[in-house]
Amino acid sequence: MSSLQGEIEQRGTRIFELVDRHPESLFSKAGFYQRMMALSMRDEHFKVQMFRFVDVLPSLRRSSDILEHLEEYFAGIRNGFAPIIDTGVRLARIVPWVSGRVLRWNVSGMARQFIAGKNPDDVMKTLRKRRAQNIGFTVDLLGEAVLSEKEADEYAARCLDLLEGLARETRDWTDPLAKNSELFPVVNLSVKISALYSQMNPADPDEAIAHLAPKLRPIMRRARELGAFINFDMESYAHKNTTLELFKTIFTEEEFKDWPHAGIVIQAYLRDAEADLRDLIDWGRARGTHFTVRLVKGAYWDYETIKSRQNSWDCPVYFQKPESDVNFEELTRLLLENESIVTAAFGSHNVRSIAYAQALADELGIDRSRFEFQLLYGMAGPIKRALVELGYRVREYCPVGELLPGMSYLVRRLLENTSNEGFLRAKFSENASAEELLRDPHELIRRNGAKPEATTGDRQHQNAASLEAPSGDIYKNSSLVNFVYKDSQEKMRSALREVRDCFSEKHPLVIGGEKVWTDKLTPSVNPSAPKMVVGSVAEAGIPEAERAVKAARAAFEKWSRTPFEERAQLLERAAAIMERRRYELSALEVFEVGKPWAEADGDIREAMDFCRFYAAQTRLIGQPRLTQHVPGEESYQHYWPRGVALVIAPWNFPIAILCGMVSAALVTGNTVIMKPSEQSIICGAMLMQIFEEAGVPPGVLNFLSGRGSVIGAHLVDHKDVDLIAFTGSREVGLRIWESAGITRPGQRELKHVVCEMGGKNPVIIDSDADLDEAIADSIYSAFGYQGQKCSALSRLIVLEENYERVMERLLSATASLRIGNPEEPGMMVGPVIDEAAYKRIQEYIDIGKGEATLAYQAKGVPPEGYFIPPTIFTDVKPDMRIAREEIFGPVLSVLKVRDLDEAIDVANGTDYALTAGFFSRSPANIDRAKAQIEAGNVYINRSCTGAVVGRHPFGGFKMSGGGTKAGGADYLLQFLLPRVVTENVTRHGFAPEETPQCRDEFLWPKRH
Ligand SMILES: Cc1cc2nc3c(=O)[nH]c(=O)nc-3n(C[C@H](O)[C@H](O)[C@H](O)COP(=O)(O)OP(=O)(O)OC[C@H]3O[C@@H](n4cnc5c(N)ncnc54)[C@H](O)[C@@H]3O)c2cc1C
Repeated sequence: MSSLQGEIEQRGTRIFELVDRHPESLFSKAGFYQRMMALSMRDEHFKVQMFRFVDVLPSLRRSSDILEHLEEYFAGIRNGFAPIIDTGVRLARIVPWVSGRVLRWNVSGMARQFIAGKNPDDVMKTLRKRRAQNIGFTVDLLGEAVLSEKEADEYAARCLDLLEGLARETRDWTDPLAKNSELFPVVNLSVKISALYSQMNPADPDEAIAHLAPKLRPIMRRARELGAFINFDMESYAHKNTTLELFKTIFTEEEFKDWPHAGIVIQAYLRDAEADLRDLIDWGRARGTHFTVRLVKGAYWDYETIKSRQNSWDCPVYFQKPESDVNFEELTRLLLENESIVTAAFGSHNVRSIAYAQALADELGIDRSRFEFQLLYGMAGPIKRALVELGYRVREYCPVGELLPGMSYLVRRLLENTSNEGFLRAKFSENASAEELLRDPHELIRRNGAKPEATTGDRQHQNAASLEAPSGDIYKNSSLVNFVYKDSQEKMRSALREVRDCFSEKHPLVIGGEKVWTDKLTPSVNPSAPKMVVGSVAEAGIPEAERAVKAARAAFEKWSRTPFEERAQLLERAAAIMERRRYELSALEVFEVGKPWAEADGDIREAMDFCRFYAAQTRLIGQPRLTQHVPGEESYQHYWPRGVALVIAPWNFPIAILCGMVSAALVTGNTVIMKPSEQSIICGAMLMQIFEEAGVPPGVLNFLSGRGSVIGAHLVDHKDVDLIAFTGSREVGLRIWESAGITRPGQRELKHVVCEMGGKNPVIIDSDADLDEAIADSIYSAFGYQGQKCSALSRLIVLEENYERVMERLLSATASLRIGNPEEPGMMVGPVIDEAAYKRIQEYIDIGKGEATLAYQAKGVPPEGYFIPPTIFTDVKPDMRIAREEIFGPVLSVLKVRDLDEAIDVANGTDYALTAGFFSRSPANIDRAKAQIEAGNVYINRSCTGAVVGRHPFGGFKMSGGGTKAGGADYLLQFLLPRVVTENVTRHGFAPEETPQCRDEFLWPKRH
């Protein structure tokens, strides 16, 4: 054993001795809370229901609501809690008012366990008690998620008030250790950076800093005058780089450069924590003034892992708990070795982590008054006491605020306390031995067979191992670009520059493998700056359309007989090329269709996903499959391609939707005439280039750019077109549907139409919904990409009980959105696609002004370009035009309803059924919404846009489409003709005993 390990064990054992001298359970408050936590640790299902109930409770106003939720959450629970619930519910039916209050009181008690005070006055009582115990404080203001600048300003004002109050009340307080006190002011305020700016976008740290710095300066200035300390808390990974950058920027300013009372948090569960800490230390040395780092493990482990899995991102956190522990110790060493410039504050309840810091500080000869331990209010009381007894500096992190805003904090703490991995549970609930708890985490890693630390460079490797798709999922999605990384931001900026240099390029049509020029070139313009031409494409007329049909028909013969594996590989090569060119393609979308960065990237990801997903699906359905095991007979079902497919795509997902329809048609053996939207022809030309490079044979894919009313209409009616895959407006879709029903002379096949059209998508906000989420997601659904998604929210249906609060937050959040040229990474709202769209949307806004009340319209949009400000109408009734007709722009109608019955009626009361959303925390209401809302894609408690291939097969019914599901398992069948081949294999009563499940392909016959 190393001497350091010996020291750690000795110190740890000493702490445990002191802790055990005043035995205390994990939860210092007995009774209800104790019981709930004990049950949560025994029963995972109960824990989930319990936390969800705690989460919703503060938003329930009536006792009857509380009881309904109680029943809904716990009805199926079979454990020690069942009798309490049963009795509670029975009693509640008799005296609902009393029971509701009792429950609320009990849960409030749980919250009070972790919240040091309701308001600044209230918290002083706690701080005085702690002072008597020689424990210092840092105060944190709890708040709802900040959705608007109004809310952010309120937070800043509350910070200032709190500072004033704390300074006033603690005027005569002194440092408990009375040594090195200049490093540790009595008043210490922990600030949440995301609460100071509602529009923080990880892709644009500079913009965030430009907004945050002016809000922080007055707080810092006042703190300095009052002799207080300001700490920047660390939140989710998305905000980490901005928070670090902000810290360095603002504390390098002349005014604050020599101020030592600044601190920031480093989270040891992050793989890049060490690099960040080294960078901070270098910065500190260059600055030349002391600063503080609070070292913690990190409070968002579950969130970060879920988020990364959902987006197929490299996961920023370690996967194994001992890896975080090891990193915590390494960072402890780094901090203590640089004690001359950085003061360490160790934020942990883990006695091993604490003992390590103590032992190492001694080894390095650092006096215990020169660093501190920080612990959370309401947790690990005996450890705090022991540390004080041992003469260490202890500071308690004290959250202040009301119950409702405090809920997310409370749930984080409950999770932490009941986590299988957590120290507190092991020590105080499971009574693990001191020896076990003080074990070297390296040893645990070795025992688990895990590699120790992975550096940032190993991220890919580590994730590939740990984030594999669970068995059962056949498809793992491509990742989104994570713009939190500087290198992603830089790649995008340089792609924007490079694409800009190609604006003068001209692109030909491609027919039968030949580049075809016509005497007309169509320019494509940038909707943010309509004078800017993004590129030009030759314009096809009827002769080119005829030529394309002939080429596709001629190529069909061979392509239809190409084995499915080869066709699948073509798609995979195309996806690989897109992956290589993804920044360039995203940049093109920013210019050609006005997509914000992340939206453009999402489009390219979706295109790659379509290719890879359809390739995988083809392998599943490509081989003829036995229909039934019957002796003496073999019957195989399989598929043939339909023939020549015409693909007509919209501009709003200019590469993804085009690519999705094209790749489905190609991989199933059809030949294709690809017609991109007139507004996104350069994207279309790029997709053609990609498939050519991938090796699509001549004539198999033909690129025709031209006017829909001319070549589109001609080809739809063409006798030699067998299949039409269309995504676009209802008007054009219905015309295609109708026209395809007519059989023309010489036509071989009944035309098949895959038709996806628009929506008038509703989102319902229930009376108990989590408004932080409901409002943020509704705004994104309504105004993301300017509302130009067929899935976009256009009717927000709000229950009257919640209406005032929803509207207050919705309007101020909308007023905070950034509107402008999406070349800037943090823009939320860019331009609409063209002048025609601009005029049409304006007309709808005029109609809305006549029919309803204009509740909000943003001002100050850029003068050039087709910018329409986000617009919200209230007093909208279901029969109004703005509530029935698709607008396809940033216009939101809000409908107030009495109850959920009316909400569902209103939601279902249009011609469309594409997407819908429902925000609620009532399990019964969620079940109802799932069953009763008429939409092809129903989303609960999330945005109603952003379908992911394979995960959310996408498409609607009624006037939204023919019931097909792009990106779903059965989509390819739309492009195929099913066949069954049956053979009697009996000869004179003798038949083979075994029949293979699959057999070789029955390829389309060669025609002579
Ligand atoms: C005073 C104070 C201030 C804090 N401020 C912040 C802050 O600003 N930002 C912030 O994010 N957190 C903050 N925290 C919370 C802190 O990050 C931890 O969540 C918490 O303290 C638990 O860590 P521990 O060392 O006490 O306990 P332990 O039980 O030793 O560690 C639990 C921690 O291990 C990590 N972990 C759990 N499972 C795994 C796994 N499978 N793989 C890898 N790692 C895992 C997680 O970080 C988890 O919280 C603060 C904590 C304190 C005490």
